[in-house]
Amino acid sequence: MKNSLQQLRKVVQEAAVASTPLKRAGVIVAGVKEAMEVAVCSLYLRDEDDWLTLVATEGLKQEAVGKVRLKVGDGLVGTIAKTRHPLNLESASSDPHYLYFPETGEELFEGFVGAPVVHLGELVGVLVVEECERRKFTEEEESFLVTVAAHLGTPDPAGLRAEAPTVGTSKPRRVVGIRGASGIGIGNTLVLAAGADLSEVPDEDAEDAAVELAHFRSAVTATLADFARGGEQVAAHVPKDVAGVFTVYEMLLQSREFVEAVEKGIAAGNWAPGALRAAVEQFARLFEAMEDEYLRGRGEDIRHLGNRVYQHLREIEAPVAKDGEPIILVGHLVSVADIAAFPIAQLAGIVSVEGSALSHTAVLANALGIPAVMGVESIHEFEDGEAAIVDGYSGRIMLSPTKGVLKEYRGLVDRDRQLFEELEKLRDLPAETPDGTRVCLYANTGLLADMTPGLSRGAEGIGLYRSEIPFLVRDSFPSEDEQFEVYRAVLQAYEGKPVSMRTLDIGGDKVLPYYPIAEDNPALGWRGIRFTLDNSTILMTQVRAMLRASSGLKNLRIMLPMVSRVDEVDRFLTLLDSALEQLREEGVTVARPKIGIMVEVPAALTLLRFLEKKIDFISIGSNDLSQYLLAVDRTNPRVSRLFDHLHPAVLHAVHWIVAQARRNHLSTSLCGEMGADPCAVVLLLGMGIESLSMSAFSLPKIKWLIRTVPRALAFEQLELALQLDHEKAIRQQVSAFLRKQGLGDLLPPSP
Ligand code: PEP
Ligand code: MG
Repeated sequence: MKNSLQQLRKVVQEAAVASTPLKRAGVIVAGVKEAMEVAVCSLYLRDEDDWLTLVATEGLKQEAVGKVRLKVGDGLVGTIAKTRHPLNLESASSDPHYLYFPETGEELFEGFVGAPVVHLGELVGVLVVEECERRKFTEEEESFLVTVAAHLGTPDPAGLRAEAPTVGTSKPRRVVGIRGASGIGIGNTLVLAAGADLSEVPDEDAEDAAVELAHFRSAVTATLADFARGGEQVAAHVPKDVAGVFTVYEMLLQSREFVEAVEKGIAAGNWAPGALRAAVEQFARLFEAMEDEYLRGRGEDIRHLGNRVYQHLREIEAPVAKDGEPIILVGHLVSVADIAAFPIAQLAGIVSVEGSALSHTAVLANALGIPAVMGVESIHEFEDGEAAIVDGYSGRIMLSPTKGVLKEYRGLVDRDRQLFEELEKLRDLPAETPDGTRVCLYANTGLLADMTPGLSRGAEGIGLYRSEIPFLVRDSFPSEDEQFEVYRAVLQAYEGKPVSMRTLDIGGDKVLPYYPIAEDNPALGWRGIRFTLDNSTILMTQVRAMLRASSGLKNLRIMLPMVSRVDEVDRFLTLLDSALEQLREEGVTVARPKIGIMVEVPAALTLLRFLEKKIDFISIGSNDLSQYLLAVDRTNPRVSRLFDHLHPAVLHAVHWIVAQARRNHLSTSLCGEMGADPCAVVLLLGMGIESLSMSAFSLPKIKWLIRTVPRALAFEQLELALQLDHEKAIRQQVSAFLRKQGLGDLLPPSP
């Protein structure tokens, strides 16, 4: 073959511009056939039942696509799939694995090279080339094919499967994402149209400018009506701070400059969609080039709005839910406006390709109690109207589930409901082990809407108030008075009970829409306390609002996120003193709150010994601690299977932290997801953790566990777990123990 690097670049470049995964596969087989000068190049795709199906070919009859199938292990292709190893044969017919499929219209072939296509450790398919004559392919040719196969494995294998003929759809399958909101939802998928992409609209001469203008104006009116309806619909279910997102959209769409730019384009002879595209591009770019970060973020909103107006211009019908049928809303980026377009009672679940656990969508889903999974790899896996289960506990979606799986999940929903009713009785009883160890149970929250569930499920206080949430759901930084109102309501709702308010923790996966921080490595960048100390006006405003809100209530505790240095604590304490002094001078009497830090950056482990005199408590942030100890991005679905707070490294670190904090007389809580995981709680109980903070939803279950498991037995479990080198083994061991204790109902389903 000719220069293989050049050939490779050509194939990859051509494949990159193909519009769908299957077309990309077509481009690749054609490119390989040409580059390697062979008679045939074909791609086989593996499905969940271990069948390999021909999905793209150049050289065989096209009618064979979707029809030629063989089991993993069968024939040469199946052998490559089984061994996951390339095969290079000069004379294929002499190989004992050789199989011939007459329906392919191929002659008996001889020269053969094949390579496995692997994605995230999973075999996706096999790429092969064939020659009628005997031919010994060179090493360079073989590695060319292996490299192309590796490229095929990277982009969107789920999309390829969903599109491929006779493969994938309507078969039971599982899609993995990131937990967005807890709970289990069962319903039929409703896939939001991805068709309205304004950026691809061309310019076209309009026949009649007046008609185009009228068309545009009525599309704007219709879009505004959508937003107004959405705002009202959501406002009935969530607090004002969440529903406020809609006003941002309305303001942008009504701005005179924007409307005039579109109208000018129409007056110049362009048709309405073309004029709209040009104006959206112009304004989005204008915003995106601005110095001010808040204004830069508005570019995204303009593009989003443009698509919505375009949808009306093209009269693309918004999807409608069948009456009363529970729906699982699926979209590339399910926006707050999308959620609001459906009756809340009908929304059984939400699935979004984009968005993290703290995106607007997840925040709203939590507030509304709708199970949600974010960050799934591809929209192509989803078919409209397909039965689906959204498991918001584990971040999984089951599509076309078998009767057995459906029954199991239905049972789980019922079991959850019954368990809650049953556990109601424990509400006012203490979380105390049968052998007398008391653990305080607190709620994690961040929205006013979350207050009542925490209290009604027996929370003894708030262990983590994520103050970034009121910041996230707005269109600009809230003022001191606005923050005061929110914090006061929280502290009052929990009067007499401690409330640990965390200072603004943005950066990393928590991005404020009006203050985007563009960094190459945001998890290691300008986050949490680093950000607020560098923007001390924001921090001072927040601390003043918290202190003022606590006046007369004395239940405020302040907690600092992402601490990695002692001087961060020192600088904060100086700022706190100054805030207290200011308020005293203003005549506001407030008590000095207890101060704590989140232990979530590995560096904080070493700092505990230096902090004894400076702070009062610590709270272990097991989510970030796991992320940093394991070097696994908590929001990246590609590595989500590696993220586990029972990993021995995390378990040993938490054990060490609890012991070290005890030595340094710091009271210790844990507020990450680990505190809601029954297996982990047994081990934390064994370590002697004093308090746990979790979502209100998990609280009754964890209380039941604590009231059932004697501390002495928990300690034994811990001793055993500390000897194990794999999180799976740890989970197995503690799960078996929980079942023996009669607590099997606390364990997640294993369909
Ligand atoms: C954590 O990191 O464990 C934690 C509780 O904080 P957040 O999830 O808000 O980062
Ligand atoms: Mg954290």
